[in-house]
Amino acid sequence: MADISAPKGVRDILPDESWKWAYIFRVVQETALNFGYSEVHLPLFEHTELFARGIGDATDVVEKEMYTFLDKGDRSITLRPEATASMVRSYLEHGMGTLPQPVKLWCAGPMFRYERPQKGRYRQFWQVDFESLGSANPLVDVEIIALSVEIFRRLGLHQLEVVLNSVGCPVCRPGYRERLHRFFESRLDDLCDTCKGRLDRNPLRILDCKREGCKAVTEGAPAIYECLCDDCRDHFDAVKKGLHRLAIPYRLDNRLVRGLDYYTKTAYEVLSGSLGAQNAVCGGGRYDNLAEAIGGPHVPGVGFAAGVDRILMVMEQEGCSFGAEPSLDAYGVALDAGSRESVSDLVDHLRRNGVAADMDYGNRSMKTQLKAASQRRARYACIIGEGERQKGTVSVKDLATGEQREILSEDVVAAVRPRPSGDE
Ligand code: ATP
Ligand code: MG
Repeated sequence: MADISAPKGVRDILPDESWKWAYIFRVVQETALNFGYSEVHLPLFEHTELFARGIGDATDVVEKEMYTFLDKGDRSITLRPEATASMVRSYLEHGMGTLPQPVKLWCAGPMFRYERPQKGRYRQFWQVDFESLGSANPLVDVEIIALSVEIFRRLGLHQLEVVLNSVGCPVCRPGYRERLHRFFESRLDDLCDTCKGRLDRNPLRILDCKREGCKAVTEGAPAIYECLCDDCRDHFDAVKKGLHRLAIPYRLDNRLVRGLDYYTKTAYEVLSGSLGAQNAVCGGGRYDNLAEAIGGPHVPGVGFAAGVDRILMVMEQEGCSFGAEPSLDAYGVALDAGSRESVSDLVDHLRRNGVAADMDYGNRSMKTQLKAASQRRARYACIIGEGERQKGTVSVKDLATGEQREILSEDVVAAVRPRPSGDE
């Protein structure tokens, strides 16, 4: 047989897993409503320029990880590697600046990055993305962090850690850059080649390097806190105070950076102790100069993106609940070929009345059909043979207890319909 397989780094989410994904999205959706965020659906591809400007030419994402191609009209198109730039583009395109601010939006969907596939790292992966646009108030940063933490709490994740930093702003960052430059310049020999190249372009990104040698060097690097301007310092203090008030614990880490000019002030990540190397479930922060970078007016914003593939991995690892696995209420069983149409009619009637029902379409024995009912985890088998057909009845068998009773056809819906939870 020909090699039929999906491209490297992408995967199918099959029924044994998809119901768990649905559970996660339900929890996210409910939490979004509670926090006043509205869902939007954004395109999976955009003009390449949006990402080059909105994420930054000098980032790994734009330099190495984008799926970019020319379409048939010779336009450079890129499959979205993240959603923030699209969200800001959408806000600007639809004149949302005239609405009461901030405008609070979220979306969910696949993102695409050409990365080295490994556990928790794929070339197509899912994010839920929340953005609050149009307010510079630090309480909005606190809301964003609280919202991400609340989603994880509702999903039952523990062993989480919020890591917080401020990356300053175009007023104070140049001074910090200079101090970092001086610091790393005298330790150049200990840095990896990539970081050597970063020294002049963007020394902040050396702080982010995952290589052990570079990490050791950055241990002693000057912290940005000493360089923050009054505005950034006040903002940072207000965010920390807000998190204290909401009893959200966090750890400060001055190496958490977003090395581009349009990322300002707050930067944060949520890490999981259960994930190993790919340990970030969520990353976010403020980007007060991003709207301008993509060609719009000044629109402050703050947001986060959480990786659904990784959330699911952590939930599995920590034994979290995904709610009830979908199952059938009833499975129609025909005792003879002549009864199959009656079973089909019954199953259709059940479905139209809100009962999850299915049946066997082969000419299989009763034993095989009952086995299929159990495999599908049906609660009841609804059995029809010649006797039942003549009397207008159905034999309803409780597959958990084995108890069976014969009831009138019109009573079957009531007998097998799932009771609303709490109505015992
Ligand atoms: P990392 O340092 O792990 O590469 P990142 O900084 O590139 O993460 P962000 O751009 O902040 O990640 O995206 C937010 C979240 O999306 C991450 O915290 C992670 O949960 C998830 N994510 C990012 N890249 C991938 C990927 N290739 N596969 C699966 N999930 C991913
Ligand atoms: Mg990455």
